[in-house]
Amino acid sequence: MVDDMLAHLSSLRDQPAWREMPPSVRAAFDGGAPRAGIGAAAAYEAFVRDVLPYPNGNLHPRFFGWVQGNGTPLGMMADMLAAGLDPHLAGFNHAPALVERQVLDWLAALMGMPGASGLLVSGGTMASTLGLAVARVAKARDLGFDARELGMQQWTDLPSHPPLVFYGSVETHGWARKAAELLGLGNRAFRRVPVDAQYRLDIAALERALDEDRASGLTPFCVVGTAGTVNTGASDDLAALAALCRREKLWFHVDGAFGALAYLSESLRPLVAGLDQADSLGFDLHKWGYLPFECACVLVRDPAIHTGAFATTASYLAGTTRGVIAGGLPFADRGIELTRGFKALKVWMSFMADGVDKLVRMIEQNVEQTRYLVARIEASEDLELLAPAPLNIVCFRYAPPRAHESDLNALNESILVLLQERGIAVPSGTTLGRRFAIRVANTNHRTRREDLDTLVRGVLEIGRELGDGR
Ligand SMILES: *Cc1c(COP(=O)(O)O)cnc(C)c1O
Repeated sequence: MVDDMLAHLSSLRDQPAWREMPPSVRAAFDGGAPRAGIGAAAAYEAFVRDVLPYPNGNLHPRFFGWVQGNGTPLGMMADMLAAGLDPHLAGFNHAPALVERQVLDWLAALMGMPGASGLLVSGGTMASTLGLAVARVAKARDLGFDARELGMQQWTDLPSHPPLVFYGSVETHGWARKAAELLGLGNRAFRRVPVDAQYRLDIAALERALDEDRASGLTPFCVVGTAGTVNTGASDDLAALAALCRREKLWFHVDGAFGALAYLSESLRPLVAGLDQADSLGFDLHKWGYLPFECACVLVRDPAIHTGAFATTASYLAGTTRGVIAGGLPFADRGIELTRGFKALKVWMSFMADGVDKLVRMIEQNVEQTRYLVARIEASEDLELLAPAPLNIVCFRYAPPRAHESDLNALNESILVLLQERGIAVPSGTTLGRRFAIRVANTNHRTRREDLDTLVRGVLEIGRELGDGR
């Protein structure tokens, strides 16, 4: 299995970026649970035949869709060791817990938040949801009520509290809506603030929204800034947002799902300056950290506030000072999961093997490649850049001078699908204003410049083939 998978990884460049599954293979996934087993060898054969050839393509050198990580062989092997050892990471007195603690200390220091409390979680969605959950408990306490005990409900025997609301730009990722709903705040509590021409949160508009909401009896408790928005890679003015939050006594959460990693590079750090002033920060290691799914991190500046939002006591889990449960369950006390796997091992081994400097070089390489792609787009009269590309995301379209604006959305949607179906490359799409964009998000350590040339050639060829939209 290990040999086959390493062979698969080393042949990625010779494979199509994506391949459609034939109906006969699809049908293989329709049967019910087997009563009698077929044995490990036959089960592995089924994997090789029906699963291995049809991944979503994200490991391929020309995969640029959404923002997906691309995995590493060492990360894969570390996940195997983690599953083999299979420790329980609620806490406990074992070496794997020290690995996670060390990884969290490293990440906090690297993000300019030394001493912060943290937790490895499944993804950016979970990381930022936990950040908002801590904000809600902490700020409710400042307002004089216990959100853990009372929730967001209005109890008939207690004085009512005003609705809590939080703010982020219209470009905030979809996690914020899910989190607002899950935390009982309601989608309505997420106040979407317009952006400027650079797709950054409009701070004057935020100030107006705060005034208006307060005047109408709402209680603002948190502002979400984004380091690297999913549409265009824009970053909000995090330093200004941090200052505003201090002034207004609001919690400052930063969603840095992929963009936070730019902080590690001295040359890119100015783009996300102020990130280190967050009260909480969520970011992924399975995107721009290049590690296999799943792995993300939430950091909370004040460790007592962090555990204050989640810690519980159950007598069968009570900590002692000796034995297997010595030290208690610190990780279970920092989030909502109890049983947790050993995600930390792939981070720990990868950081040790490669070092932070190599990670920084790869991130800077992706940004340089993005600038190269932008230059190629700007040099072609048939291509149009649709938004500034400050980081690693490029939004563009095929728009030859002779084409009609009204045809361009359908034309570019077709180009995108054909790029994928022909296995040339896998960008994704988005809509900016009313214009459909082919969107390239480059967190790919396997990409070379020639891969971007192939992408550009593919767009131009398919565009011409489709008759310029007429
Ligand atoms: C990807 C992303 C998320 C969600 O992260 P997951 O790891 O997919 O849960 C949140 N915010 C931004 C800006 C993202 O790019």
